[in-house]
Amino acid sequence: MSEEKEPLNFIEQIIEEDLKTTHSKQALCFRFPPEPNGYLHIGHASSICLNFGLGLKYNAPVNLRFDDTNPAKEEQRFVDAIKKDVQWLGYSWAKECYASDYFEQLYSWALLLINQGKAYVDSQSSEDIASQKGTPTQPGVAGPYRDRPVEENLALFEQMKTGEAPQGAHVLRAKIDLQSTNMLMRDPVIYRTLHKSHHRTGTDWKIFPMYDWTHGESDYIEQISHSFCTLEFLPHRELYDWFLDQLVDGSKLRPKQREFARRNLSHTLVSKRKLARLVQEGVVDSWDDPRMPTISGLRRRGYTPDAIKNFAKGIGVGKRDNLIDVSRLEFSVREDLNKKANRVMAVLDPVKVTITNYPEDQTEWLEAENNQEDIDAGSRKVPFSKTLYIEREDFREEANKKFFRLKLGKEVRLKNAYIIKAESCDKDYEGNITEIHCTYDPKSKSGSGTQESLRKVKGTLHWVAVDKAIKVEVRLYDRLFTDPSPDTHKDKGFMEFINPDSLKVITGYGEQSLKDLKIEDTVQFQRLGYFTVDPETTQEKMVFNRTVGLRDSWAKLAE
Ligand code: ATP
Ligand code: MG
Repeated sequence: MSEEKEPLNFIEQIIEEDLKTTHSKQALCFRFPPEPNGYLHIGHASSICLNFGLGLKYNAPVNLRFDDTNPAKEEQRFVDAIKKDVQWLGYSWAKECYASDYFEQLYSWALLLINQGKAYVDSQSSEDIASQKGTPTQPGVAGPYRDRPVEENLALFEQMKTGEAPQGAHVLRAKIDLQSTNMLMRDPVIYRTLHKSHHRTGTDWKIFPMYDWTHGESDYIEQISHSFCTLEFLPHRELYDWFLDQLVDGSKLRPKQREFARRNLSHTLVSKRKLARLVQEGVVDSWDDPRMPTISGLRRRGYTPDAIKNFAKGIGVGKRDNLIDVSRLEFSVREDLNKKANRVMAVLDPVKVTITNYPEDQTEWLEAENNQEDIDAGSRKVPFSKTLYIEREDFREEANKKFFRLKLGKEVRLKNAYIIKAESCDKDYEGNITEIHCTYDPKSKSGSGTQESLRKVKGTLHWVAVDKAIKVEVRLYDRLFTDPSPDTHKDKGFMEFINPDSLKVITGYGEQSLKDLKIEDTVQFQRLGYFTVDPETTQEKMVFNRTVGLRDSWAKLAE
C-alpha cells in the first residue's frame, strides 16, 4: 500500500478483511435501496456516496434497488425523481431493480417456510399480536394460531393471496422464538394483506412482504455481497441472518448486512416521511422547494453535485449517529462555487446615484473579469452610464472611519469602473435618501493603466447602470427550522419550529449579462452571495434563488 493513501474507514476495513478471507474481488456487489415514497434527501447522499463510492473503488457493480413493498405510500413519480437525482450526482447503477420484481420468488419461499413448519397464518388483531409479544424484559406468549396445521396455513395464505380473505383478516408470521431477547425475533410478521393498486404490479398482488422478509432476500437474489444500512437496522441483523439461514444453500454467495451511522443535518429533517408532511401541509411548495434538504431542492437552490459529494465525503462514515451543522454544507457549496461561478453585479436594495460630471447620453462598455479564481473564465462587458444603482446600505451621509463605503465628501471605487466621490444627497419627507449626487474621476478607469486608475481607495462597491439594468425577482432563503434538531423534542413536534422567515421575495436589478444565463446556472452576485436561475424563470421575468451568502466579501474586493 502506498503511503499517500487515505486511511480506510471501518466499512472499507470490513471489505478488505473479507477480501483476505471469504470473498473474491469479483464477488463484490453493492446496492442503494430507497423506498419510492418520497424524494431523496441529503442523508441519502451519504448512503449514495458510500455505496457508489465503494463500487468505483473496487470496480464492483452497484444496483439501484427500489424497496417498493408498500403500495399505500409509493408512487412512480418518486421512482423517476430518485433516478434523476442519483444520475445528477454523477453515479450510474449496474442494474435497476425492484423488490416488486421478486414478489413471485418471495411468495414461493414463503410457501417453503410454511411447509417446513416455520411460518403460520395468524388471524388475531394486530393489538392482540402486539400484546402477546411481551416486552424486552418479559418473554412473549404463543397465540392460539401458532400451531395451526400446515394444510390450514397453506389454505389461508392462499385466501390472503387471492383476496378472498378480507384485508387485514390474517397475517403470515415466521415461527422463530417468542423467548428471544430480540423482540424482532418473536415471530415477526412477514406478509400482510393490502387491497391497493401497486405502481408496478397493479392489482396482481393482495399480499405484500414486509421489509425484513424482503430486504435480505432481495440482496440474496441480486447476490449483493455487502448490504450497508443505517444503525437503526442493527437489531434487524439477527432476523436478516435467520431468513437467509432458511434459504441459502451454499452454492451462492451469502450477503451480509453491516450498519453505519445515520447522518443528520441541523435545522432540517432527514426522513422522507417527515419531509412528506412539509409538502402535504403546505409548509413548502413542493419536494424540490429550495428550502428542502432534498437533492432536488438543493439542486434548485444552486448546489452542485460536487458540493454535495464533497460534503458527504468530508463527514465520512461513522459508527455513531451525529448531528452535522448545516454551515458545513454551506461551506462546501461556497467552496465549490467560488471556483466555478462567474461574478456578476446586481443590486438588491437599490438607491440611485447620479454622476453629475458624466456626459448625459453616454454609455461605456467596461471590461469585467468573470472569475478571478479561474483564468479560463474570460471577461465580459458591463455598461456604465450617468445614473446608477448601488446598495442602499453602501451609503451614509456620515459615518466613522471604519465605514469604507460611500459617504459624503469621500471616495470609493465602483468595481470595474471609476472612482466616485459623494457630493450631496436628496431625501424624501421621511428622511429616506432618494438620490445621491456624485462626481467621478474620468482618469481613474479600472484597467486603463493611468496613475489615477492605480490610486488606492479603501472601498469598492458593486453597481448597475439604471437604463440597462434587468429587473429580477430574487428569492432569499433561510433555514427552514429555528431549532437545530426540530424532531427531537419530547414535548413539541417539529412543526412548532418552522422559521416564519425562511423565504423573502424581493426585486433586484442586475447587469445585462444575466440575460445569457440558463435555468440552473449559478453566478456570484458580487459582495452578496451565490444565486441561481430558478426554473420558474420566463421570457418576461427572471427569478433567482440565493444559494448561500458570501462570508468574506469585503476583504477580497477591496484588493
Ligand atoms: P423513510 O423516512 O421513508 O424511512 P428514509 O429517509 O429513511 O425514508 P429510505 O428509503 O428508508 O429513506 O433509505 C434508503 C437508504 O438510505 C437506506 O439504506 C438508508 O439506510 C439510507 N439513509 C436514509 N437516511 C439516511 C441518513 N440520514 N444518513 C445516511 N443514510 C441514510
Ligand atoms: Mg428509512
